[in-house]
Amino acid sequence: MPDARSDLPLRSTPLRLHLNENTAGCSPAVIDALRTIDRDAVAVYPDYRAITAECERWLGVSEGRVQLVNGLDEGLHAVAQAARNRSPAPGDAVIVEPAFEMYELCAEAAGLRVVRIRPQPSFAFPLAPLLAAVSDRTRLIYLTDPNNPTGLAIPPGAVERIAEDAPHAIVLVDEAYADFSGRTFIGPALDRHRNLIVGRTFAKAHGLAGLRAGALVAHPESLDAIRRVLPPFSINVCAVVALDAALRDRAYLEWFVAQSAASRALVYDIAQRLGLQYWPSEGNFVLVRVGPQASEIVRELASQGILVRDRSTQPGCEGCLRITAGVVEHTRAALTALESALSTVRRS
Ligand SMILES: *Cc1c(COP(=O)(O)O)cnc(C)c1O
Repeated sequence: MPDARSDLPLRSTPLRLHLNENTAGCSPAVIDALRTIDRDAVAVYPDYRAITAECERWLGVSEGRVQLVNGLDEGLHAVAQAARNRSPAPGDAVIVEPAFEMYELCAEAAGLRVVRIRPQPSFAFPLAPLLAAVSDRTRLIYLTDPNNPTGLAIPPGAVERIAEDAPHAIVLVDEAYADFSGRTFIGPALDRHRNLIVGRTFAKAHGLAGLRAGALVAHPESLDAIRRVLPPFSINVCAVVALDAALRDRAYLEWFVAQSAASRALVYDIAQRLGLQYWPSEGNFVLVRVGPQASEIVRELASQGILVRDRSTQPGCEGCLRITAGVVEHTRAALTALESALSTVRRS
């Protein structure tokens, strides 16, 4: 383990395992870099050229294919707005349930009507119903790989098929957890399918949630429409400096990705031992079906200072909670508490 991490806190209070953050904190190199920001740097509008080029290198794409955003959430708003602007006629946004809540909010804020694809048994990817839902009205299709909250991958070929069948719509592939899955659509597919836009965030694996840094990645023509609806200076200088330092510290990212993989294995072990249904996840979280008392269990854990996410009201997620699987010590503490909360709640 590199030295820089030896001073990591073992536990923050409360233990935040409900928003898939990096509970080890950002790389220490990020804080060192933030300390170098001087009065002049704060006083001027940021220049994004160097950080954008660095991000393009990091993602392995050529010039013009990255648009930085103030957290991927801002990117989701911009994509919805750009999709709406494609035509003055009313339009639809297609959402595959269970989905990240922001999609619905962004689509509605942009004036798009939401069309929901219901979950299939075992959360199998609903390719046929999704293709059947595509119409002349479709402006935007939200896909998430791996999905949040299930952690499941989109099967090979599905994204390309959707992009081909809906050439008149933007197909957004939200890859917020790609650092954990190791899989991405960023590559030649973006040049073949000009309606494909990939979303990335540096909030989760890189631990920059508090500074807000994300990216939209697409063919330069596809990004043009997005750039027209984004403010010119939406990423502040601290985020620029932090992102630069975070991208350079690959060792820290790799350490956290490995911690997450080990943590997920611990969650699977306990779920198997307790006979709880779970879905093997490619993100830094696991969806676990704890049963009809899920909300009570979430409250019981919160009373012990351990925050996990109640997902029981999301379509297909009845009785489920989602637990962030990051720092192994944090996962161990949470699972011990979960096991006792399960027996407390079941006894009562
Ligand atoms: C966390 C998350 C985001 C938002 O990322 P920010 O960069 O923090 O705005 C987007 N999509 C999904 C699926 C997420 O889980």
